[in-house]
Amino acid sequence: MKLSVNLERCIKAAECSTYHAELFAASDDGFPLVIVEEPEGEQLEDAEDAVRVCPGNAITLTREDN
Ligand code: SF4
Repeated sequence: MKLSVNLERCIKAAECSTYHAELFAASDDGFPLVIVEEPEGEQLEDAEDAVRVCPGNAITLTREDN
């Protein structure tokens, strides 16, 4: 699964980088940077949680063969 952020939807609320700092870093402009683009195992579960909590619905997990 590929983890990505749609910056056009991101409202810079920082939930992702605050609660899942192993997956996302906050950049100087307030947008998150994806650190782990292909999370597996526990990191995949954390990525799924980030998708749920993002207030902008900006975080997606997509199958890599799509
Ligand atoms: S949680 Fe969603 S809206 Fe907030 S910074 Fe991360 S991607 Fe953007």
